[in-house]
Amino acid sequence: MPIKSLIRTVPHYPKQGVMFRDITTLLKDPVGLRVTVNELVHRYTPVKIDRVAGIEARGFIIGAALAYQLGVGFVPIRKQGKLPAETVGHDYDLEYGTDRIEMHVDSVAAGEQVLLVDDLIATGGTAEAACNLIESMGGGIVECCFVIDLPDLGGRRRLENRGQKVFALCEFE
Ligand code: IMP
Repeated sequence: MPIKSLIRTVPHYPKQGVMFRDITTLLKDPVGLRVTVNELVHRYTPVKIDRVAGIEARGFIIGAALAYQLGVGFVPIRKQGKLPAETVGHDYDLEYGTDRIEMHVDSVAAGEQVLLVDDLIATGGTAEAACNLIESMGGGIVECCFVIDLPDLGGRRRLENRGQKVFALCEFE
């Protein structure tokens, strides 16, 4: 089942020149959704994982379905100011300016093994910030898992250079 063929490309979104890879067309397809989650379940069932951490917002969808099937808990990584209880945060650089992601302080305990999930890795800045955040809480990162890798943007290399394992179900130029 070609997952890649169910991903829609939206030209010039959110700005001119960007080819946005849109997984909503994959998610709405019942076979596409099932195959996507099942491939990840198959990969991670033999692995010791305490928690799945999903990055806002599309990482919640895949991450929560995966956590459910693996029988482990799910924790959200959110943009600044969205989580209601006490948080820890990590700032990271964007093309212009900075951004901040946060987790609840009690979402990962020291020594826990966390699988990081998002829909897509581009430059790797978001995922790297998430790794820093999880590690600052004492968690270990089993692997960084994505539906889509954009290898030309170097995110995989960036994460691998900091010692992370990286997995993606498909790649786009
Ligand atoms: P990075 O930090 O440059 O790796 O960008 C990855 C983050 O931006 C992820 O949270 C993605 O959800 C989002 N993102 C960047 N480009 C796209 C895209 O083409 N489609 C969907 N999400 C994207």
